[in-house]
Amino acid sequence: MIFGATGDLAKRKLFPSLYRLYQKGKLSERFAVVGVARRALSNEEFQLSVKESIEAASDKNGNHDEFISHFHYHSHDVTDSSSYLSLKQMASDLDSHYGLGGNRIFYLAMAPEFFGTIAEHLKADGLTDVAGFKRLVIEKPFGHDVESAKQLNKQIRNAFSEDEIYRIDHYLGKEMVQNIEVIRFANAIFEPLWNNRYISNIQLTSSEVLGVEERGRYYETSGALRDMVQNHMLQMVALLAMEPPIRLTTEEIRSEKVKVLRAMRPLEGDAVNEHFVRGQYGKGKIDEEEVPAYRDEPMVDPSSNTETFVAGKLLIDNFRWAGVPIYIRTGKRMETKSTKIVIQFKDIPMNLYYQSEQTLNPNLLVIHIQPGEGISLYLNAKKSGQNVEATPVKLNFANKGIDGINTPEAYEKLLFDCMRGDATNFTHWDEVALSWSFVDKISEVWESEKAENFPNYESGTMGPREADQLLEKDGFFWWPVTDLNVDNC
Ligand code: NAD
Repeated sequence: MIFGATGDLAKRKLFPSLYRLYQKGKLSERFAVVGVARRALSNEEFQLSVKESIEAASDKNGNHDEFISHFHYHSHDVTDSSSYLSLKQMASDLDSHYGLGGNRIFYLAMAPEFFGTIAEHLKADGLTDVAGFKRLVIEKPFGHDVESAKQLNKQIRNAFSEDEIYRIDHYLGKEMVQNIEVIRFANAIFEPLWNNRYISNIQLTSSEVLGVEERGRYYETSGALRDMVQNHMLQMVALLAMEPPIRLTTEEIRSEKVKVLRAMRPLEGDAVNEHFVRGQYGKGKIDEEEVPAYRDEPMVDPSSNTETFVAGKLLIDNFRWAGVPIYIRTGKRMETKSTKIVIQFKDIPMNLYYQSEQTLNPNLLVIHIQPGEGISLYLNAKKSGQNVEATPVKLNFANKGIDGINTPEAYEKLLFDCMRGDATNFTHWDEVALSWSFVDKISEVWESEKAENFPNYESGTMGPREADQLLEKDGFFWWPVTDLNVDNC
C-alpha cells in the first residue's frame, strides 16, 4: 500500500523499482499494489500513470499490461478517518483475490507531517490486524530534531513494533555504500591498517550541482545539516568506522554502528563553529549558464539563514579512531555531482625518493559512490627511466566496466529487503536518536546566530573558503574529487 501514490517519489523510484523486481522474477504473481492519494482517479487512470512512469524510467517497449493489472487505486485524504474503512475492505478483498496470506507493507511516500496520523489510523481502523506480517516503510525526514523524532516514534510505535519499522535512508541501498563493509572486512590488506596508526584522515564528500529547485519550502525548514548530515553522511561515517560485527546479522551490524555514533565527540558552544562550517550559495555559472542565488530561488526567504552547504570535522573517541579527523562536506550548487570517500593513509617514516625535491604522494583509497561506482587505490611506483624516482599510480576498479550490467537502483534493493524482512540497510531508532542529538547541538548554535556572510560561496564552486581552512588548520586539504574520478585512468 503506497500512500502518496501520485507523488514524485512513487513515480520516479517506487513504480520502476517494483517493475524491475517483477521482471527479474523477485516478485511473484501473488502481489497487489494499492495506491493511495488525494486526487480522484479511476483504477485505469492510475494504471496508466504507473505504465508511464515505467516507460520514462527504463523500459519503453516492454509489455507492462500484466504488471500494471496488479495496481489498484484508492482516493483518500489521509486525515479523513472515514475513508480508512473502505481502504481496509479493499485490502482484504485483494488479499483474498491474490492469496496474500495477510502480508502487508505500508509505504509512506508522503510529507512527514502525515506519518503519525496514518500509522495511528492504520491501527485504530484495523488495517494492521492481519494474519501475516505487517511492515511500515517511512521516508526521511524522520523528525526535525530529537524531540520531534521521539514524538513521531511514539506515534508509530503504537501501531508497529521497532522490528516492523523500516526507516529508509536510500544511501544505504547504494551498491558502493554496501560495499564499504565488504572492502573493509573481506580484505586482509585493509583491515589491519584501518585505524589511527595508519590512517591520517578520512574525507567524505557528497556534492550536488542542482540547486534547491522547487523544494524551497521544505528546504527552508531543513537545510543541508538536517537534509544530508543527520542521515546519509552520518550513516556512511558509521559504516566506515564501525568494528567488525561478530556476524552479518541486522542486530550485530546495527549494534556496531550505534557504538560509533555514541563515540562521536559531541560539540557544544564555541566548539560548533570551530569544527563545523556552514555555507549558502550565491549566484554563479554552471555549464556556462547563469544560476540564481539561493535567496532568489522560489519560496525562499530573501534574507534566509538556511545553509545549503556544510563541512565538518568529526572525532570518534575510541581506541581505533582517537586522533583521526573524519571530514565531511555536502552542498548544493557545487562544481560537480559526486559522492566519494577518500581514506588518506599516513606518510611513510622516511622519503628515500627526494632527488627532484619530490614529495611522495600519500596512499589513498577512494570509494566512489556516485555517479561513477568503483574503488581506486593510489600507490607510488617507479617512474620509468634511468633515475629511481617515484610516481603515483592508480589501481582502478569501475563497477559498471566489470559487471557490464547496471547496478540495481537503491530503491529496488531496499524494497526487496523489506519484502524479505531484512532490516539491515534501514535505520534503527537508536541511530536516528543519536544522530539527531549530535546535529541538534549544531543547529542550536546556527539558528541563534545569523550567518552574516551569507551567501558565502559562488554557485559552481566547491563551497566557502572556510571549508578549506578547516582542513588547512590540521595540515590537510580536500582531495579534488574530479581529479579522483573512477574513469580518470
Ligand atoms: P510529492 O509532494 O510529490 O507527493 C506527495 C503525495 O502525497 C501525492 O501523491 C499527494 O497526492 C499525496 N498527498 C498529499 N496530501 C495528502 C492527503 N492529505 N491525503 C492523501 N494523500 C495526500 O512528494 P514526494 O517528492 O513524492 O515525497 C514523498 C516523501 O518522500 C517525502 O517525505 C519526501 O521527503 C520523501 N523523499 C522524496 C524523494 C524524491 O525523490 N521525491 C527522495 C527522498 C525522500
